[in-house]
Amino acid sequence: MSTFQDLGLNDDLLQAITDLGFTKPSEVQSKAIPILLENETDLVALAQTGTGKTAAFGFPMLHKINIDSRTTQGLILSPTRELCLQITNEMKLYGKYCKGLNVVAVYGGSSITDQARDVKKGAQIIVATPGRIKDMINRKLVDISKIEYAVLDEADEMLNMGFYEDITDILSNTPEDKCTWLFSATMPKEVSVIAKKFMENPQEITVGNKNESTSQVTHEYYLVNSRDRYDALKRLADANPDIFSVVFCRTKNDTQKVAERLIEDGYSAGALHGDLSQNQRDLVMKSFRNNQIQMLVATDVAARGIDVDDITHVINYQLPDEIETYTHRSGRTGRAGKTGVSMVIVSKSEVRKIKSIERIIKREFEKKDIPDGSEICE
Ligand code: ADP
Ligand code: MG
Repeated sequence: MSTFQDLGLNDDLLQAITDLGFTKPSEVQSKAIPILLENETDLVALAQTGTGKTAAFGFPMLHKINIDSRTTQGLILSPTRELCLQITNEMKLYGKYCKGLNVVAVYGGSSITDQARDVKKGAQIIVATPGRIKDMINRKLVDISKIEYAVLDEADEMLNMGFYEDITDILSNTPEDKCTWLFSATMPKEVSVIAKKFMENPQEITVGNKNESTSQVTHEYYLVNSRDRYDALKRLADANPDIFSVVFCRTKNDTQKVAERLIEDGYSAGALHGDLSQNQRDLVMKSFRNNQIQMLVATDVAARGIDVDDITHVINYQLPDEIETYTHRSGRTGRAGKTGVSMVIVSKSEVRKIKSIERIIKREFEKKDIPDGSEICE
């Protein structure tokens, strides 16, 4: 299928697609959209980050719901607050010509009263993090008993984050005969368990190799003395003055410290981690999106799923504990056909992890020297 028109989407949606500048559907979209439009079916879709999964479930949901009704018909569960807001914004853009459409985001760290009020006005679609919607269900602030379509977005990550019980609870409040669409970058055992438990003969689609990193990303590592890690980061930034980057740290504490040091040293940086208030997190994301800060220093949880255009570099200030996480990190760059660089700063004791990552992503790293930094390179 070569055009969105061929996929059978309605005119309101096609108009929005034109406005968005999407010229042709991505692979996951051309596979998922016709299945979801033509059938009332469960679906498991596996595709790596940056392949356009939001539109793959967003457009069919908007096409199928009844916008003249105020009943909540679609529920999208997503692992983090940032992602929940991002999906909500995308859905509003996709549905900009669907008159009367109400998409409401429901997530923690922000007023539950305000969210309940917005839901009460009549939201056809709710985009939610599991914790907050569970809370609202318990307090009878939302009614999801007439849901027709439920999406589990980034299902692998939701399960990683321990949302299994919450998801079970939430789905037990929805009708048996709804359709469940599960989207995930990887298919660990936990995701198959969820698929078996909540889905009936789901159709399955897979795009690309499920663990392979996007081909537009080049991978580099810099071997330095552990105490020179921060210095290495600065020199990488100096060598790339136009850098627009996510810098990943292992802990909230390190994230905060690295961001503060960068700011003190005159770099354009901000911190994103779970110890910040929701307001602070929204602000830093907004300035990053608007290119007001060049380096977003973040933990994995906070950065998950964030789709910011034109990220030039992902810098692994520290490697993640779970090497699989590297795939998600490097997937922040090289999105939608663009090129990107994923850099890893490693010390001698961790350098063997590079080999394991190479096996997972099926790509080779290039060993490089820190620019102007021969004295700190190992
Ligand atoms: P995923 O959820 O698979 O990680 P997203 O849904 O966040 O990917 O989409 C990644 C980026 O690609 C977004 O910026 C989105 O606007 C863009 N995009 C999605 N579909 C298309 C398309 N058909 N043509 C061009 N850009 C697209
Ligand atoms: Mg996504």
